[in-house]
Amino acid sequence: MTLIAFHACGDNAEIITDSLAYSHGARHLGEVTKVHHLHHLRAVLATQGDVWFGCAAGAHLSNISKHADDFDGLLSVAPAILRRIWEAEDFTDKAEAALFIIGWSPEASEFVSCGLDAKTDFEPWRIEGPFMIPTPHSLRPSEFEFGILEPAVSAEALASWREAAEMPTPQSPQDWVHLALTAWEDRALTPAPSRVFIGGSLYFTQLNYSAQATHRLFDFDPPDEDFLKMVEGTLHPRAQLAPCPFCESGKVFVDCCADLDVECPCGSGSAIRDCCMLTPEERAQAESELVP
Ligand SMILES: [Zn+2]
Ligand SMILES: [Zn+2]
Repeated sequence: MTLIAFHACGDNAEIITDSLAYSHGARHLGEVTKVHHLHHLRAVLATQGDVWFGCAAGAHLSNISKHADDFDGLLSVAPAILRRIWEAEDFTDKAEAALFIIGWSPEASEFVSCGLDAKTDFEPWRIEGPFMIPTPHSLRPSEFEFGILEPAVSAEALASWREAAEMPTPQSPQDWVHLALTAWEDRALTPAPSRVFIGGSLYFTQLNYSAQATHRLFDFDPPDEDFLKMVEGTLHPRAQLAPCPFCESGKVFVDCCADLDVECPCGSGSAIRDCCMLTPEERAQAESELVP
């Protein structure tokens, strides 16, 4: 998952995204652009979930957009293209891959936003009002996010989350940043299953009929203890060198449960020690970075 929030209405649209990308189990963290501009269509694509899917979807739709007359034209061919990409590749984050198309619709005579995701076979769903994923605890998640949360989060927690307030419409770039930082505090620094990795920078995109641009508004540079909270229990090198979260041995994870015959959380089917456990070289590297 990734942080995406936007609102398209009337004469303009605004989008904010983070830039953090991560491999399965968060063993590697990096950054990636999640908004692709289609200036000629007065539109952008924003991708969510599997990075490979996002890159492939962005590239194919950008390419095909030269044949589209406008936003509505692109939207009508997008489902078939996304299905083809989906079937051709073996993507890992099956539950979460989605693409949002936000732009000027001549049909609607205003800026509109649509989501297309794997679970609904990429049939576009129109989004009315402001949209955000992941949501802070104080706001009600979208049905799309509930679909992602349902298998992992208790029914009780979900029921009380349904009672939360609707997302307000941000009135300024600062409002968007504030919303994103609240989501970061509530969702990135909490343990799985509702944890979402959020980080890198926040990019703010504005579209109107005659111009569109993206600016960097904020850099996440969390203090060490917050970073460790975010990667706790993952396969990230810093987490593997933290006290084992699976038992109370007091040893670091690589010297403890990582060496047992447990299946690697990356989904490879191999034991952790034969898979994502730090090699001695990687461990030496990660330990040298810890020295103040
Ligand atoms: Zn242990
Ligand atoms: Zn692995």
